[in-house]
Amino acid sequence: MTAFNQTVLLTGGAGYIGSHTFMALSDAGFTPVILDDFSNSHPAVLDRLAHLTGQRVLCERGSVIDTGFVAQVIRRHQCVAVIHFAGFKAVGESVQQPLKYYHNNVGGLVSVLQAMQTAGCQSIVFSSSATVYGDPDNVPITEQCPCAPESPYAHTKLMCEDILTSLRASDPAWRVGILRYFNPVGAHPSGLIGEDPDGIPNNLMPYVTQVAVGRRDKLNVFGNDYPTPDGTGIRDYLHVTDLAEGHVAAVRALLARHDSFTVNLGTGEGTSVLGVLHAFERASGRPIPFEFAPRRAGDVAEYFADVSLAKTLLNWRALRTIDDMCRDSWHWQQSNPDGYRNMAPHDLNVLQTNSLLSNHDGSRQPAASA
Ligand code: NAD
Ligand code: UDP
Repeated sequence: MTAFNQTVLLTGGAGYIGSHTFMALSDAGFTPVILDDFSNSHPAVLDRLAHLTGQRVLCERGSVIDTGFVAQVIRRHQCVAVIHFAGFKAVGESVQQPLKYYHNNVGGLVSVLQAMQTAGCQSIVFSSSATVYGDPDNVPITEQCPCAPESPYAHTKLMCEDILTSLRASDPAWRVGILRYFNPVGAHPSGLIGEDPDGIPNNLMPYVTQVAVGRRDKLNVFGNDYPTPDGTGIRDYLHVTDLAEGHVAAVRALLARHDSFTVNLGTGEGTSVLGVLHAFERASGRPIPFEFAPRRAGDVAEYFADVSLAKTLLNWRALRTIDDMCRDSWHWQQSNPDGYRNMAPHDLNVLQTNSLLSNHDGSRQPAASA
């Protein structure tokens, strides 16, 4: 099946994973359209995407909570599928402010599904997370492992999965692809798009990159007494470009077959905290100061995916190594020490010619002035 002229809506497409998926879809011949309220992203990313693709980037500014708006966008662009990234993702914040998470993550999905139904689009790929498994009894984790979410954030993901399963059962015309991501890291090899966390990063890789660039003194390694070879926690880190390509495979599978699926996206290999740290030292050529700190509450010792189903169902597997992930994270961090916040003048020129942001009231403006 050719992707030519097939438009796919990316809710939350201006964010970290969405922007990389925009690139992968565009490379595969699809026409991606972003819908984002920029609650956790910066309009400058649109300029970067325009620069990388050499094409005008279409972005509709608004919230997924607004069902009428989402339906209008799907109709206007004649979307054949939706990839639903929009949502909040900070586990700690979800414990402090659970209603904010249930409203945006669960309410947002229901709203998007209602909009899709109204607009006659019934293929959806959903961003779920390996966090739905909780503390697994065994690794590697297969999709059949029981789900035991521990945080409100993880609960929102499992509730969304359940909603999608019920919907599909009610009407088999729905095609649902649920993707459970392991630990996405890295950046586009151009260094133009990447992860841009607000404030002190919670996650390992952005923290390490900020230590390497001198924004933070040292890494606290949370726990060195786990039952793992070097005593530090093991995770399945996945290059964000591999993850983005996994979405292209999922959209293709949904459009080609009348099927629904739930699959893990990971590499199938675990790397310890010290393993990441040493890989980053190799990539950056800089020592990363660190000290051991107590275990972080809620962390598990070891977590990595069984990825055989993704291979069988989607014909997808991760191609990039932990060294590739560290190299690309480092390139992004060095090229953009302040993330998207301080744009170089040449970026503004590209933006004015190539990137068009539509506001909710229908007015249009270059993203630079947003
Ligand atoms: P991100 O915060 O970078 O991107 C999410 C985007 O959604 C942001 O651009 C934000 O502005 C937008 N958004 C939030 N609420 C919105 C709303 N109501 N309407 C419109 N736009 C809205 O996050 P990400 O890392 O790119 O994650 C994307 C998805 O993948 C999320 O659903 C997240 O829970 C899931 N996920 C992420 C990870 C990870 O480690 N990054 C792991 C597993 C799952
Ligand atoms: N970690 C760490 N120091 C940090 C951040 C994370 O030692 O500043 C460890 C954490 O304990 C875990 C691993 O790095 O073992 C991955 O943590 P991250 O928050 O990136 O992912 P998650 O725990 O959600 O899988």
